This record gives sequence, C-alpha cells and structure tokens, in this order.
Amino acid sequence: MSSDSPIIIVGTGHAGLSVAETLRRKGYEGEVRLIGEEPGLPYQRPPLSKQYLKGEWDESRLEQRNSGFFEKNRIDLVCGKAVTDIDPASRCLRLDDGSEVSWARLVLATGSRVRRLGVPGAEAKGVHYLQTRADADALKKAKENVRSVIVVGGGYIGLEGAAAFAQAGIKVTLLNRGTQLLSRSTSTPVSDYFYRLHHAQGVNIEFNTEVVSVNVVEGQAVGVTLDDGRSLRADLILVGIGVEPNTALAERAGLRCVDGVAVDGACRTSVSGILAAGDCTAFTHPLYGDTPIHLESIQNAVEQGRIAAATLVGEEVSYDAVPWFWSDQYQDKLQIAGLARGHDLEVIRGDDKGARFSVFCYAQRKLVAVESVNAPSDHMLSRRLLKQGISPTPDEAADLSFSLRDMLA
Ligand SMILES: Cc1cc2nc3c(=O)[nH]c(=O)nc-3n(C[C@H](O)[C@H](O)[C@H](O)COP(=O)(O)OP(=O)(O)OC[C@H]3O[C@@H](n4cnc5c(N)ncnc54)[C@H](O)[C@@H]3O)c2cc1C
Repeated sequence: MSSDSPIIIVGTGHAGLSVAETLRRKGYEGEVRLIGEEPGLPYQRPPLSKQYLKGEWDESRLEQRNSGFFEKNRIDLVCGKAVTDIDPASRCLRLDDGSEVSWARLVLATGSRVRRLGVPGAEAKGVHYLQTRADADALKKAKENVRSVIVVGGGYIGLEGAAAFAQAGIKVTLLNRGTQLLSRSTSTPVSDYFYRLHHAQGVNIEFNTEVVSVNVVEGQAVGVTLDDGRSLRADLILVGIGVEPNTALAERAGLRCVDGVAVDGACRTSVSGILAAGDCTAFTHPLYGDTPIHLESIQNAVEQGRIAAATLVGEEVSYDAVPWFWSDQYQDKLQIAGLARGHDLEVIRGDDKGARFSVFCYAQRKLVAVESVNAPSDHMLSRRLLKQGISPTPDEAADLSFSLRDMLA
C-alpha cells in the first residue's frame, strides 16, 4: 500500500460518486474504492419524489453512471455492503460481512437518514418514508391502490409527495406542525405561494397540527389521531419530517461531530487522513459567518465531493460556492440561491400573487438569499450576485426595469 493509495469512499450517493469521478478527472492513478450499503448502481435522489414517483421516469433514468463508467475509470464499486466500523489508528475498516479493508485515505460520504415518527403505531404497515430508491418503489406500488393519503410534514419531501399524489387524483391531507409551509427554508411569500398552489390542486392543508398516534387495524395504518383529539382516516401515510446526518461511524471513530461531521473548507475532518463530504457534514462557510452550517442539497454534495478530491490530490482549495437548491411541485419550479437564515427584510421582484416572482432576502441590508418561483433567469443572476458579494438596494431589487445583469462584474 503506497502512502496515498487506496482511497476508500464510504457512501455511493451524490457526494461519494463526485469524489471518485473527480479523483480520476484530476489524474489520480491510485486505487479508488466506493463502498455503499444500498444495492445497485449509484442513482439520483431528487427524482424519487418527482418524476419517478409520478411514473414519468423508469428506473434506468435514475442511474447516475452505467456500469461501464466504473470499469473504464477503474473505480471499484462495492454495493450492498455497510461499513460498520472504522479504526483511524490501524487505517482499517470493517464491513457488515465481517471482512476488513485497509485504506491510505478515507472519505465519509454517508449522507443522512430520515427522522422517524416517534408515536404509537408509527411502525405499522402503510406508514412510508421517502429517502431511498427502495422507499420510492414501495410508495409507488402502494400508490396504485390508495384513494386517500395523509402527508405528515410540510417540507420539500411532504410537498413534492403531496403534489405527486394529488396529480394522480388521490385525496391528500397534509399536516403541518407550524403555521407556515417550508418554514425551515423559505420566506413567507414563497411559503404562502406554495400553500395557494397546493390548495388550488385540492390538497387539504392543516396547520398547527401534531400527530399523537397512528391508528392501526390488524397491523395496517388506517389514519392518525391528532393532538386536538380528532381522528383522520387515510389508506396511506407519508412521513416527511426531516433528516439527520449519518454521523454514527464518525462518532464511534472519535471524529469531531456537531450537527454533522465537522469539516474545514478543504473537507478535512478532525482526524488526519479522513475527509467527509455531503449531507453528513457541518462546516463554516465564508459567506455565512462563524456558525457551522449543515446543508442537504445536491449542489453541496457534488461541490464538497469535488473539494475533497482536490484535497486528496494535494491541491490547496477552500469551499466558497454559493449554496443553491431547487424543488419541483406540479408545473412549478422553486430555485433558491444562498441561505435565508436570520434575514430581516424580504423584497419581492415580480408579482407574488402571479406565477413568476423572486424574493430577495437581506440581512442588515446585505443580500443573503434569493428565492425564485418560475424565474430561472433571476436565479442564475442571483447566484452570480451572491458569489461576487453584490447587493442591489431593496428598491433596485423590487424594480423590474432595473437590470441585475448590469451589476455583475
Ligand atoms: C426524495 C428526495 C428528493 C430530493 N430532492 C432534492 C432536490 O430537488 N434538490 C436538491 O438539491 N436536493 C434534493 N434532495 C437532497 C439530496 O438528494 C441530498 O442532499 C443528496 O443526496 C446528498 O448526497 P450525499 O451523497 O451526501 O448523501 P446520500 O445521497 O444520502 O448518500 C449517502 C449514501 O451513503 C450510504 N451509507 C450511509 N452509511 C453507510 C455505511 N455505514 N456504509 C455504507 N454506506 C453507507 C447511504 O446508504 C447512501 O446511499 C432530495 C433528497 C431526497 C431523499
């Protein structure tokens, strides 16, 4: 074993694959092994709650790369095997079949896992989550035979799932804990827009509701009981109440973890020779001050994968990419550039009661995020404005005749 080979990557999701392919693109010649617990070739997760759930895409379109790609690039893909332990001292890891693998450098790209509904009855048949291809397959199959669905959670998974069900003519009730949809991630005008959109499609949205139990008959979920005492019936329950970073391996190995595996701008963890990338990480970002952030997005997974690979081949790099995200619901597309945390001003560009607008979010008069509904050019320009640290004044942002493009260097 040379001092830089093999590189072992744990997790075959977007971040893990990005590390492996960037290593080869950068000319790394050593051994690369990608180990993941899920069966089959690495696949795209976003379509699981969109095109795939709606039946518009078949399974083959989910694949990120075909098997020939891994052969051609000499990436040893090990699927269906979980890493159970890593030992930084001996640079050895153990798989769930008992075998051991040595590494010279290790990348953790273990992603996140769904938060489970912790109420009586929640483990019954008919209660679904949506994180993996297997979850999506189970949900698609169940969807064929249901007439009513309860969606627990008004975040992205809940809303995209609700849209897919409503479009299939299924009666949907969506239960939201607070008073606003997408409350963790979007401004009030955007969450109000998506409320109106779902309402117009016949989705019944209940705010300020908490599920206290799942009602079960002969092992099958038949509805839920709410904290106000009401019982709602449904043939299927989809739970989308967020995810948590997969840090168990890292924690057991003594890596520093705070709401994710702590990494620096070069994706290095607190232990030499071990890097991390994607949903499993937490890090400080030059655009967002000293408080560590944790992102759950394709942009972050792919970008951190590239950064980790660059670090592994000895480049001096530091992560400063502007975060971005998207969600598709019905025919509408939401695109977010930046992070709207702790902002104190929201400025609307366009007509938020129409079908195309953007919300510019400011913190102390500095632009921190732009949320665009069906306005892709605003989104692309905003990413460049944020990257260059340029803030239009609130008046300029609100003025459709003002050219944002002309502000760019
Ligand atoms: C249904 C759905 C829709 C989404 N839609 C969007 C969207 O529209 N836009 C967007 O930006 N983001 C979206 N996301 C989020 C995005 O998919 C994630 O942020 C991204 O997949 C993170 O990539 P990752 O590689 O870090 O983790 P993951 O994709 O979660 O991959 C991690 C992999 O590691 C494996 N693993 C974990 N522990 C071990 C172990 N011990 N041993 C072996 N393997 C292990 C896991 O099984 C998994 O396969 C969506 C997510 C879901 C679930």
